[in-house]
Amino acid sequence: MAEKITIKNGELCVPANPIIPFIRGDGSGPDIWAASVRVVDAAVAKAYAGTRALAWREVLAGERAFAETGTWLPEETMQAFRDCLVGIKGPLTTPVGKGTRSLNVQLRQTLDLYVCLRPVRYFQGVQSPVKDPSKVDMVVFRENTEDIYAGIDWQAGTPKAVRLLEILKTEFPEDFNKIRFAAATPNEIGVGIKPVSKSGSQRLVREAIRYAIRHHRKSVTLVHKGNIMKYTEGAFRDWGYELARTEFGAEPTGKGAWMRIPEGKPGAGIVIKDCICDAFLQEILLHPQEHDVIATLNLNGDYCSDALAAQVGGIGIAPGGNVNFDTGHAIFEATHGTAPALAGQDRANPCSLLLSAEMLLRHLGWNEAADLLNAAIATAIAQHRVTADLAETMPGTTALKTSQFADALIEIINGR
Ligand code: NAD
Repeated sequence: MAEKITIKNGELCVPANPIIPFIRGDGSGPDIWAASVRVVDAAVAKAYAGTRALAWREVLAGERAFAETGTWLPEETMQAFRDCLVGIKGPLTTPVGKGTRSLNVQLRQTLDLYVCLRPVRYFQGVQSPVKDPSKVDMVVFRENTEDIYAGIDWQAGTPKAVRLLEILKTEFPEDFNKIRFAAATPNEIGVGIKPVSKSGSQRLVREAIRYAIRHHRKSVTLVHKGNIMKYTEGAFRDWGYELARTEFGAEPTGKGAWMRIPEGKPGAGIVIKDCICDAFLQEILLHPQEHDVIATLNLNGDYCSDALAAQVGGIGIAPGGNVNFDTGHAIFEATHGTAPALAGQDRANPCSLLLSAEMLLRHLGWNEAADLLNAAIATAIAQHRVTADLAETMPGTTALKTSQFADALIEIINGR
């Protein structure tokens, strides 16, 4: 019987037939959804021989929701994600027009999905711009609710921007004087505010360290720009180290501010270190094997996860998840857009959605099915059984249609 996932004492309680709300997505979303759902169901069936199955429940968002209900993100959809905790979505068209917020942002904000989770790894056979992409195996925990993304960003000359500059001028003249051109042209300065809190930073770092413990990872790197923004980015780093010490018993290693979880504690041996963001972008090219789980602020996380995805040649197939580890709410998603030119043609690559489903399975603790799915994708790519976007980069490869690629994965899963 299909049942909802619940959460008790911070742990998900997953029934044998959990209800999983899904949004098919716009553009080529329905193509990749139709292929993905068959493959995911096959992996679950193979792993658990019929004792477990996902009970998919379709919910509407985006263009189809607008056509059928007159709203882009119906309340029933929000309610389904609230009630069922864990869901998945294809790409959605961002409605164009003043005052319409991105549907992805609305989902994240309403459910307070404070971690943007991006695993980055290399699949043998995918073309990459670096010599040895197989050295990249990282999981990025990007803070999803704060930083300059909080949305406090005022246009030059608007009453709020002008008023804020006036307040600075009268209350904090030494700061006002640091703003180049403020005295000369105060109406021509846009102003943004970058909030970074201790609670927001620590809940992110806590989950990154827990993840490292659960998945037997070697280190957690706190990526920040604290040399310049001491009380936002620098504070993120300091609060991260403080949390490693107070909640995980980490001790100084003697190397900079680095810490290590000592013997006898969960996660013994895991190193907590930090790296300034610009140096980190060099590090991922020069010494990617030195970094494992990454915990970082919103803007750094945006840059780093895209740079890492490009490094393994995986921009088009990179998966993502937005998670609140306290309430258990999570929405996994294809990270690319709706690829409207491919809509309805059975040509789009479903790997990003499939790998998001793999993350979903791991989130449920269904690791056996996740492993099968991941291995099938790796095998198909290594055998050059791929869709057109990847085939283009693999000389001598004939592209499969989306549905044929799904068939190939199911064959591999079933060992045929
Ligand atoms: P896009 O990702 O849709 O397309 C960029 C390029 O990548 C195109 O050449 C496209 O054909 C290709 N591509 C994307 N997904 C592919 C796939 N699965 N298989 C093969 N090729 C693929 O980005 P865009 O054109 O900038 O945006 C189109 C729409 O998507 C916009 O409405 C945008 O707002 C929306 N969007 C949604 C999300 C999301 O829901 N997560 C993310 C980004 C953009």
